[in-house]
Amino acid sequence: MSESSAFDSLMTITKRPPIVMVAGQGSWLTDSNGKRYLDFIQGWAVNCLGHAPAVITQALSQQAAQLISPSPAFYNQPAIRLADLLTANSCFERVFFANSGAEANEGAIKLARKWGSLHKQGAYEIITMVNGFHGRTLATMSASGKPHWQGLFEPKVPGFIKVGLNDLEAVTAAISERTVAIMLEPVQGEAGVIPASQLFLQGLRQLADQHQLLLIFDEVQTGMGRLGSLFAYQQAGVEPDIMSLGKGIGGGVPLAALLAKEAVCCFEPGDQGGTYNGNPLMAAVGCAVLEAMLQPGFLEQVRERGVQLANGLRKLSTRHGLGEVRGSGLLQALALPANNGDAVTEAARELGLIINAARPDTLRFMPALNVSADEVDTCLRLLDQVFVAGAEMGCPA
Ligand SMILES: *Cc1c(COP(=O)(O)O)cnc(C)c1O
Repeated sequence: MSESSAFDSLMTITKRPPIVMVAGQGSWLTDSNGKRYLDFIQGWAVNCLGHAPAVITQALSQQAAQLISPSPAFYNQPAIRLADLLTANSCFERVFFANSGAEANEGAIKLARKWGSLHKQGAYEIITMVNGFHGRTLATMSASGKPHWQGLFEPKVPGFIKVGLNDLEAVTAAISERTVAIMLEPVQGEAGVIPASQLFLQGLRQLADQHQLLLIFDEVQTGMGRLGSLFAYQQAGVEPDIMSLGKGIGGGVPLAALLAKEAVCCFEPGDQGGTYNGNPLMAAVGCAVLEAMLQPGFLEQVRERGVQLANGLRKLSTRHGLGEVRGSGLLQALALPANNGDAVTEAARELGLIINAARPDTLRFMPALNVSADEVDTCLRLLDQVFVAGAEMGCPA
């Protein structure tokens, strides 16, 4: 059997190298040939405690032996405990659990539309941001502002008005009697780590208050400690009405959450649900993850490693004539002077370092939140080797 035919039963949904990963431990992945990689993608900012952390394997095995799926028709202890933990540590009063970030965002969109139908004469339009990313269901693709998704899967779900990030005037101009909410990522992750400014987020809060709109933060990527605070809204100094979480909250298993202020919670029985939503197996993992993050010093470590990574990337940028370093905490990006992000990530992988090119001219780094100082240094050293080798081969950057 040729190597490629071994993968032919899987639908082609993305370009993948012919590598099969078989094991992961902490910041390290191992492929089927025994090659080890330092993983600075971590399941796409998902494995916040690294690969196979003991607290998650324990939570999974204990809960699997106890109760996996009593059905969403009944309460279960892990879901109650996780909802309590989330509300005790955020500005929200209510939680709905989902299985993916897109599904949590779908819930946010539905909640806003329901609220509009009850309190704003059927207003349903949601203002979202150009280059924003909210997921791959039809509604969340429609809410997203990825330019190359235009024209895909038409007709899209109507009711999403796109404006430029950090353009408060454009948001103001887009508000009409049909508007019910403004939805955005505090830092655009998939777009290449582009932060919304604090002034913009505060301006949005004011606009929302003036016009009776809901402010929705998609914290699927920025939440759960990624930026060095539990949630990004805490750094911005504004409280959204609705927030979605995904990725890190499950530490690697499918878990997401929709959080809302009490005043906004208007779902009635039958409006929202899902077979696996709030299942105790995943909720038990969520509890383990959040409890690990609430340990004294955990978020401080994230901030310290983030500064170390950003400073190191800045040195590399100066040394090799690269672009700006953006981000906060352990969501960092390095701009490249040419569109060779894919070549750089491939060369890095050859050397045993896994990073992501969020855009052709942008490298993105999202290591485990408990990555060690040595591992950050190793990442920077390997990346330096990549750029040295690239320069020797006469490639710009
Ligand atoms: C990853 C991501 C999503 C989608 O999450 P899935 O679990 O892939 O559905 C939504 N919003 C943001 C900001 C993301 O980074």
